Amino acid sequence: MKCYLCGKGKLEGMQVEHKLYGLVIGKYPAEVCDSCGEVFYDEKASEEIERDTKAKGLYGLSAKARVTQIGDSLGITISKPISRFLKLKKGDTALIRPESGRRIIIELTD
Ligand SMILES: [Zn+2]
Repeated sequence: MKCYLCGKGKLEGMQVEHKLYGLVIGKYPAEVCDSCGEVFYDEKASEEIERDTKAKGLYGLSAKARVTQIGDSLGITISKPISRFLKLKKGDTALIRPESGRRIIIELTD
């Protein structure tokens, strides 16, 4: 079976450790490309990943946010689920730096 993504590599069935936000969700059967490394889960594995992600309270943590004006600076609101996941509270400190032209890294320093 050829890779659905690169079309070059051969797909090999194996157990893959699935991670989200740096946390291990579990191990699931998948097909992995021996060329580009892309991982393909079947429908059953995808459903298990979704179920286990929800059980760990990590489902839907990605959220769109709008840039707002705060005095002379700009602000981006951090949603309640994300702040809960990060145990983030008012007064915490963070180091903010651009990683590229379209990506910002916010590193909590507490
Ligand atoms: Zn591939």
